[in-house]
Amino acid sequence: MKGLIYNYSSIRKEMLKDVVRTKTYQNVIYQNTFLFKNKVVLDVGAGTGILSFFCAKAGAKHVYAIECSHMADMAKEIVQANGFSNVITVLKGKVEEIELPVTCIDVIISEWMGYFLLFENMLNTVLYARDKWLINDGIVLPDKASLYLTAIEDAEYKEDKIEFWNDVYGFDMSCIRKQAMMEPLVDTVDQNQIVTNCQLLKTMNISKMAPGDASFTAPFKLVAERNDYIHALVAYFDVSFTKCHKMMGFSTGPRSKATHWKQTVLYLEDVLTICEGEALVGSMTVEPNKKNPRDVDIMLKYSLNGQHCQVSRTQHYKMR
Ligand code: SAH
Repeated sequence: MKGLIYNYSSIRKEMLKDVVRTKTYQNVIYQNTFLFKNKVVLDVGAGTGILSFFCAKAGAKHVYAIECSHMADMAKEIVQANGFSNVITVLKGKVEEIELPVTCIDVIISEWMGYFLLFENMLNTVLYARDKWLINDGIVLPDKASLYLTAIEDAEYKEDKIEFWNDVYGFDMSCIRKQAMMEPLVDTVDQNQIVTNCQLLKTMNISKMAPGDASFTAPFKLVAERNDYIHALVAYFDVSFTKCHKMMGFSTGPRSKATHWKQTVLYLEDVLTICEGEALVGSMTVEPNKKNPRDVDIMLKYSLNGQHCQVSRTQHYKMR
């Protein structure tokens, strides 16, 4: 989604106007200039170059801004227009293919997160840059990302997005329903819809992890906090910058201020009738699609052995 429209200015504006996102990076950089003073910085996927500008202002010795889309040409112009040509070098191309004029980097900064954290698989590009250029005690910003899961009541939307296909002006189009069920929906969830606790699925340490660590199976136990119905599971992520003087970061969860990432909704085949205190238990398996590694395959196994509802199922989803 994000990738297909990277070249258009609308998504640029949407990202830059995402205040939670952009302000967090700005605060991280401006309030922790000790991380940047006289350092050589690499901006992985620089876009307009906004993060490079923050780093340059914070006193970086030099910033290399790599960007593969046509936005790189704009970034070059913006660097000139703002008088940063001596500090920021924009390099147009893929991180995986570019030759850097230096062999070592002190700091890597990147805003690589996709929907459901991992959609588009730009994390691998950051890890590639880390392993190729980052000095031993160099830092990666952000350096921690976590994925969470919760369950929601969502009768109205499920009806509108999924069950709609069962009877379209009197015709059975349920083959489309099947497909719609497999597509995680990126949308904002009202916190009042949350029925259970929020479960941490996986934390990734961007400074240390191997590319393969982005594929995983994680167990979950979601305990109902009230009597309600569950129509979907909802995934979201947070990122942190643990190398700051004071820990900083942001969350894309339904209880936090909305971001352009929204949340990711996975509809369940059946409506679950759950009583307060009962647990929906299972596991989620996440891995890049074998044919197209920018897509994400998700497998959900879950069961509820409740007073009013007994269900055990496996469902497959594809983000593309
Ligand atoms: N840093 C900018 C843009 C973030 S969006 C900001 O914070 O506003 C991520 C950017 O990374 C996109 O512009 C995309 O074109 C670029 N990108 C993705 N994969 C890349 C790769 N392999 N090499 C270089 N740039 C890449």
